Amino acid sequence: MSDLQSKIQLQAFPNLTDEQIALLHPFGEVRATKAGDVLYEVGDATYPLVVVLSGQTEIVDRSDESDQVIATTGPGGFNGELGLLTGQMVFAACVVREPGEVLLIPPAAVHEAIETIPVLSDVLITAFAWRRQLLMRAAAATLTLIGPDASPSILRLQEFVFRNRIPSRWFPPDDPAALALLDRFDVHEDGDVWVIVRGQKALRDPSILYLAKALGLDLAVCQEAPADLIVVGAGPAGLAAAVYGASEGLTTVAVDDLAIGGQAGTSSRIENYLGFPTGISGGELAFRAEVQAVKFGARVTVPRRATALTREDAHYLVRLDDKTDLRGRSVIIATGARYRRLGLPEQERFDGAGVYYAATDLEARRCREAEVVVVGGGNSAGQAAMFLAATARCVHLVYRGPVLGRSMSHYLVSRLEHSPNVRIHTGSEVQILRGGERLESVTIVNGRGQRETIAAPAVFVMIGSDPCTDWLHGAIDLDERGFVVTGLTAAEDGSDAASPYETSLPGVFAVGDVRSGSIKRVASAVGEGSVVVQAVHQYLAATENGER
Ligand SMILES: Cc1cc2nc3c(=O)[nH]c(=O)nc-3n(C[C@H](O)[C@H](O)[C@H](O)COP(=O)(O)OP(=O)(O)OC[C@H]3O[C@@H](n4cnc5c(N)ncnc54)[C@H](O)[C@@H]3O)c2cc1C
Repeated sequence: MSDLQSKIQLQAFPNLTDEQIALLHPFGEVRATKAGDVLYEVGDATYPLVVVLSGQTEIVDRSDESDQVIATTGPGGFNGELGLLTGQMVFAACVVREPGEVLLIPPAAVHEAIETIPVLSDVLITAFAWRRQLLMRAAAATLTLIGPDASPSILRLQEFVFRNRIPSRWFPPDDPAALALLDRFDVHEDGDVWVIVRGQKALRDPSILYLAKALGLDLAVCQEAPADLIVVGAGPAGLAAAVYGASEGLTTVAVDDLAIGGQAGTSSRIENYLGFPTGISGGELAFRAEVQAVKFGARVTVPRRATALTREDAHYLVRLDDKTDLRGRSVIIATGARYRRLGLPEQERFDGAGVYYAATDLEARRCREAEVVVVGGGNSAGQAAMFLAATARCVHLVYRGPVLGRSMSHYLVSRLEHSPNVRIHTGSEVQILRGGERLESVTIVNGRGQRETIAAPAVFVMIGSDPCTDWLHGAIDLDERGFVVTGLTAAEDGSDAASPYETSLPGVFAVGDVRSGSIKRVASAVGEGSVVVQAVHQYLAATENGER
């Protein structure tokens, strides 16, 4: 085992000290065990933290035909992973190998222990976060995707599992392993996309919501009382609001349509975020923020799309796409923005089959050693071009404006100009996309009308975005481009509690890219999401005092 591997192993599977076990005792119950006892099973909706006092337990991956032991835990060790805090169902089983005694702590008590005892929070949270990373590799058969590489369905499903860190593997339909699995479920149909869940059921081209339900990722949104705060959107702004809201004692529920991390989650490397001098991938940043939010007790639910916002008596209702309603005393809108399309008639046909809106490992794998085109002149286009240049033969950066640098950071412009396999085409536009089932070539035209056709299997469209505010039309004030207008209420009712983030509805705030006039950056989204919680507190206090 390398030094790095043994360091990871130590962080993921530490032994608790006697003092730490003594601190945990009041939160759980001691139980005698015998060999073969199943302490929790794959698919269980909730499960306890298992601290081994004596004897031995095993964590078993049951996804394939034969069980695989992922980890063995002896006295002082503990079993459980991130799902304990997020409420996801169990991906691996816990079975007793040698009899002894265990301390079983239910999820709510684990939350309480983490919240109240910092030394336990450090050891448990670090281990849970590392275990999820290891589980992603070890239990890759939790989910098997089968389908053609070029299939938009496969790309959609891969994006969902990749961004939500669900252990998975992919096989093309003619792979012997895929054929064997399809045989087992007796489901052979040419060209179809299949998803095998934990080796137990085969789903034909499922919707994201259906798959999430099958995986137990879709948390039931049951509410006894209205939450203090509902956060809609779990990009950097929403995650920051969830962390600050929950850590400051507000009951906080956050929902996101697709995956935690928002646009930042699709970035291969964010280099200008404070504290990460060598950069951090958006996925990693999002994962850390999610762990932080659930650690403080925020409830984060994915995939759930908000479809409407209304007021009922003293609280707000956020309607979700499955027609359930979330009730909250205050709401933070952090739904950000979505990429803009090129507006070419062929674009839709090649969506996911050569036309992409993010450049992560997933897409880069599809165009290794090929020529690729990146369209746009902002930071996201610059980063994508640099990232792809590491594996593509040549990257063509196509930008409509006369010079790069108006909306791209200086350091990126300079790197692109010095990259031997990046060609910059300023004053140019993509004119034609051609291909059969997949994109095969891209024709660009410059300001002088000269055309150039590039044999490229991939074009990355990074030409800006529009706000995700469809669900808010008629409910609150939006500007002429559809962004949420904030800072209004002070002028309207003269209230002291108004904040620069409050919308035309009192108690409803907007932060991050969705806000009219916001700076479209990770740091500013995080900043707004953090400081707005102060205004939420003031609003809640004012409503309790009858002042608003
Ligand atoms: C590829 C790329 C690279 C980038 N690189 C950088 C960089 O290096 N540095 C930098 O500072 N900035 C960068 N940016 C910009 C930065 O990512 C954004 O400014 C930031 O993510 C905005 O955060 P946000 O939380 O406001 O919105 P978003 O990140 O857009 O998050 C909004 C979230 O809301 C969800 N949502 C939308 N509608 C609904 C709904 N109706 N119901 C529920 N959920 C909904 C979305 O799924 C999304 O997860 C980059 C952007 C991209 C696309």
